[in-house]
Amino acid sequence: MKLKLAVLLAGIALATAVPLHEPSRDNHGAQVLRVKVTDLADLTYFAYLQSRTTLDFWTEPRALGEIDIMVRRWDLPMLKAVLLHRKLQYSIHIADVHRHLADMKEKHLQARTRAGDARMSWDAYYNYDEINAWLDSLAADYPSIATVTDVGTSYEGRTMKLLKLSTGQAVHAIFTDGGMHAREWIAPATVTYFIQQLVAGDGVGLLDDVDFYFMPSINPDGYAYTFTEDRLWRKTRSPNPGSPCVGTDPNRNWSFHWMEGGASDMPCSEIYAGPEPFSEVEMRVVRDQLLVLRPRVYLTFHSYSQLWMYPWGYTTDLPDNWEDMHSLAIAAVAALTAVHGTQYEVGSSSNTSYIAAGGSDDWALSVGGSEYAYTIELRDQGQYGFELPENLIIPTAEETWEGFKLIAQFIGHY
Ligand SMILES: [Zn+2]
Repeated sequence: MKLKLAVLLAGIALATAVPLHEPSRDNHGAQVLRVKVTDLADLTYFAYLQSRTTLDFWTEPRALGEIDIMVRRWDLPMLKAVLLHRKLQYSIHIADVHRHLADMKEKHLQARTRAGDARMSWDAYYNYDEINAWLDSLAADYPSIATVTDVGTSYEGRTMKLLKLSTGQAVHAIFTDGGMHAREWIAPATVTYFIQQLVAGDGVGLLDDVDFYFMPSINPDGYAYTFTEDRLWRKTRSPNPGSPCVGTDPNRNWSFHWMEGGASDMPCSEIYAGPEPFSEVEMRVVRDQLLVLRPRVYLTFHSYSQLWMYPWGYTTDLPDNWEDMHSLAIAAVAALTAVHGTQYEVGSSSNTSYIAAGGSDDWALSVGGSEYAYTIELRDQGQYGFELPENLIIPTAEETWEGFKLIAQFIGHY
């Protein structure tokens, strides 16, 4: 029995190591398993699986606790055997991913119909072109404070826009991006909500003290792909020569301690770091803006898990100013929680989750020279996961706005 299981375990790793064809992304019968991890050795094992197989970890293998793994139907028998062998408790969180996505697609269509043809509302999710058109409309509607600049082009040729909101009086700047991982739709939705609050909501006054830079959707090709082809796409859409698998994990692609842990050199992995640092043009575009703007605060929005994290991701060591970042995060989360009671965990990336090198926050704090850098994993904790329903966009955005506002107020005055 022991030998047989060892072969099974190796099977999971090796079956996908050097595939001749692109591994199928067919979700019929795929399940999301929620696994309870109480042992560090098991956590290490899952981190290994994440980097060496095509298993799709919906939540990163974190500090001990629950992790959600999507397992396609042909991998299910093996993985369930592994879980049994390692005596790991799990529940079937989503019994059929394909059916779940089909149901949600219907709901997205209904939400879009209800939302009508307003340029942007926060009761539906908007595609990449719609977000860009909305950014352009802001420059036209608020010419005294809003400037939109085309700052680059994605691999597939989509224009990447930078929005600057400024009255020309501020000394400090906050740079905010979202949508680095394509399927995390709540991130661009939340970031665009911040913009709306700053141009015409209760954030207008903040512009006297802080300049704001926004790029709400920095993986344009991947994001577009989630609307048309594959709702669960995470990576970029650039091909990998010599491999049938497409895309790089943009949040493993930044140059600071690139590939030093929690990243994969296998193009078929969901956490493939790319052939070299900054291989992805979209991340080079964002990097170049950060190098010019040198924002005091860098914020990047992801989902899901409800975590407010600061560097480092590449090591469990902490940056020199971690206590400042920690205190400000605690205050931001308190403001967030006060709105709807939503609980967030605060900590350094490698202490709230497993080591992951090549993230944008590590780079922003070190090379980019930002004083504060945060990766925020928005709602929820897996109940809906990436498919956060439209009626939860505004509650998510308005609570996160309070945390964002607190950071802006602090930066403006201290
Ligand atoms: Zn993400």
